[in-house]
Amino acid sequence: MKTKSLGLLICLLSSCANLPSLNKTESCSFPMDNNYPGGLVNYYLKSNDSDLKNKLQMGNLKFTICRDEDFNANILAPIPLTYSKNKIEVILNNELIDSISIKSKFYRESRIQIQNKDLVNPPSSMKKRIEREYLRGLTAKNTLTSSNLKQTKMDIPVTGITSSEFGVKRFINGEPRNRHIGLDIAANEGEPIRAPLDGKVILIGNFFYKGNVVYLDHGNGLVSSYSHMSKEAVVINQSLIAGEVLGYVGSTGRVTGPHLHWEVYFLGIPINPEIFIK
Ligand SMILES: [Zn+2]
Repeated sequence: MKTKSLGLLICLLSSCANLPSLNKTESCSFPMDNNYPGGLVNYYLKSNDSDLKNKLQMGNLKFTICRDEDFNANILAPIPLTYSKNKIEVILNNELIDSISIKSKFYRESRIQIQNKDLVNPPSSMKKRIEREYLRGLTAKNTLTSSNLKQTKMDIPVTGITSSEFGVKRFINGEPRNRHIGLDIAANEGEPIRAPLDGKVILIGNFFYKGNVVYLDHGNGLVSSYSHMSKEAVVINQSLIAGEVLGYVGSTGRVTGPHLHWEVYFLGIPINPEIFIK
């Protein structure tokens, strides 16, 4: 690991200018090489400008900055699944300083049959409930608490088999539906689900689609959710450390069998949970 004095020396040699950094320090450690829709741009700048957030543009993407003691700014920008351009222009002080290539990514189609018509097209009596739950989820996934989040290496929350990946284009009974914005892990009913990273419980609910669900805030705009649980094992505002049980696998909500539906959001944008797994 670099020492502060080495960092200062590097800084003096480069006059602390806003130069793109080739070195990755160990103090901000986030997934790399996921520049595709549903992934995360991880871009380094050598800059000690405390107002960098207001002087920088990453195309039209939202971003956060992780700072380390060596004056590096680690810029993290989630890429929506709907992103259609093949690059992101990095603009600093109204000047184009770099262009980041965005790869295309293949997402497969999934076609499932659900017999219970009420779950496919919910009865109108459920509309208000579904809307309320949507808004609660929307608020939770957009939670932005400033924290000292320096790394996002996660353990898989439950032992099981991946039954549906993130980003899948879904069809239910032949009709196109929303993209699958989580990772499904099929496991036995009652299997414990563990917090993959330290976090705080910000929402617990019994939702029409998600069933028994828990949302965790990991800080700096990183939020995760756990759906279809048989029951939760936490209370609201509880702080969890990685590895603690937050609930148990179940088949509540709109499901075809017991599994965990795991979502990860960065700045409110769903991204592929797999990129965080150690
Ligand atoms: Zn799912």
